[in-house]
Amino acid sequence: MANHVDAIVIGAGFSGIYMTYKLREEGFTVKTLEKAAGVGGVWFLARYPGARCDSDSIYYNYIFSEELYKKWSWSSRFAAQDEILSYLNFVADELDVKKEMQFNTEVKSAIWDEDQTKWLVITAQGEEFTATYLISGVGCLSTSSIPNFQGRESFKGESYHTGNWPHTPVDLNGKRVGVIGTGSSGVQSIPVIAEEAKEVYVFQRTPQYSVPTRNRQFTEEEIAQFKEAFLDAREIMLNSPSGLPIPRSTRSVVDTPEEERVAILEDAWEKGGMILNNAFYDIVIDPKSNELVSEFLRGKIREKVKKSDVVEHLLPYYYYSTKRPILDTNYHDTYNQDHVTLVNLRQQPIECITENGIQTTEKEYPLDIIVFATGYDAMTGTLLKLDIRGRNGVSLQEKWENGAKVETYLGLGLAGFPNFFTITGPQSPSVLTNVPTAIEQHVEWISDCLNYLREHNVKTIEPTVEAEVQWSKQCTEIANGTLFTKTESWYTGSNIDGKSRDFLIYLNGLDNYRQLCNEVAEHGYKGYQLQYEEIKA
Ligand code: NAP
Repeated sequence: MANHVDAIVIGAGFSGIYMTYKLREEGFTVKTLEKAAGVGGVWFLARYPGARCDSDSIYYNYIFSEELYKKWSWSSRFAAQDEILSYLNFVADELDVKKEMQFNTEVKSAIWDEDQTKWLVITAQGEEFTATYLISGVGCLSTSSIPNFQGRESFKGESYHTGNWPHTPVDLNGKRVGVIGTGSSGVQSIPVIAEEAKEVYVFQRTPQYSVPTRNRQFTEEEIAQFKEAFLDAREIMLNSPSGLPIPRSTRSVVDTPEEERVAILEDAWEKGGMILNNAFYDIVIDPKSNELVSEFLRGKIREKVKKSDVVEHLLPYYYYSTKRPILDTNYHDTYNQDHVTLVNLRQQPIECITENGIQTTEKEYPLDIIVFATGYDAMTGTLLKLDIRGRNGVSLQEKWENGAKVETYLGLGLAGFPNFFTITGPQSPSVLTNVPTAIEQHVEWISDCLNYLREHNVKTIEPTVEAEVQWSKQCTEIANGTLFTKTESWYTGSNIDGKSRDFLIYLNGLDNYRQLCNEVAEHGYKGYQLQYEEIKA
């Protein structure tokens, strides 16, 4: 007989920690299953050199509890991976949720039992659990991806993916290191790798825009001020489109006179962080606006890179901000160093990996270490890897046609999958917001929903097909009105060979989304169908 709880939560990252706490506090029994050996989710795994958050640390945390917020002090503007992991352990200990968690436990499948109206969850370790509710807290970027380079297994040196970095130090000293990929992970790690390695070869397919982080240590006075301002900042975060204390911009790039526009961009550049991409409302809407900002950023790259034969290969021409905006510390300057070589894969694609290194169409690059900074099968990758089966044994792979037709309601629920909830699921605001703020909104909504079901003797809840179709259509229409869908990126799924292209993020802002979700709940879970318990006379 399987262990039964009210709710099983999959994953013990930001989502799983808060969901576990919230449900336990509401009197539900919870079991949280986590594949890794500890809490943290992606912050447990992505320990690559230079790994750091690119949201301001003082906002990249839980805000549901003033007491919790004030107990923790961030050391710097952008926290490093180890500090974020310490923070998540601190929270899990403060909330005392580790006792509800089982680590080193990988969920393999979850099957809806129609007769018993409960989920049967089976782990890779052979354990079985049953639960009335199944909640995914697997995150949007948790399945790392290494492209299928021919000959990869033959490489005799060491190789690592940035998203699965070893827990013991990797000695780069005196080594020839090849890094494939220049997304956030590559851009953060390359300057740090170059500090230690003897030679660095960056295998770049698409050049990147990047804005300086301007990271710095906080003073004690600043920390006291952040804590003092917490309630005001939280209020703005809860009512902003990004979940950050940045109000919705009403300024258009093209409509702002040149002198003023440049002054705004220069100011944002000097301040660093995510200010620049939030400075105007139409950067990702109007191609002309986008080009003005893109050209400003290309100008910064031209200023930084001193080698004239290298700089032209580092200039991006995609619509700025339609790939995830990148923050860096000394990224472009790194190419001024003589031991750093840029390999432009548009001119010489990788043919294969050999036992000695990387073979492009032009030459072989002998290497001791290969770093795959090649990203993630984002948004749907982890969910589709789990064998989740809803009504009539229909799997998620079947429902979503292996990713070709992803439909959800609010990014929170799926027709045909009763009592199943996805925190920051596809078609919710998720990765285009400050993710912890988006997570809190989902966790609180799900918790309120489960309370409602308990109070009203509801046996099952699931979205209607009509609501799901309507929501998915709306998400697509909003995305098609932007430049996001015109760029190859992990946002669109085009980073994964063979993956269907789709834009699975709700783009109308966390503020509007929160209101919509609240309205759904206030109207007795509009768009859902509820099946009630039979009350015995
Ligand atoms: P990513 O943004 O998807 O970047 C992957 C890189 O690998 C890209 O440069 C891509 O080139 C390249 N690549 C992929 N397949 C390739 C192939 N077959 N051949 C050559 N190059 C290939 O992945 P990421 O850097 O890990 O970042 C993913 C996301 O995680 C970020 O956008 C961010 O949301 C999150 N993240 C956040 C932080 C932070 O908070 N600081 C840090 C790391 C990651 P193309 O561009 O040409 O596809």
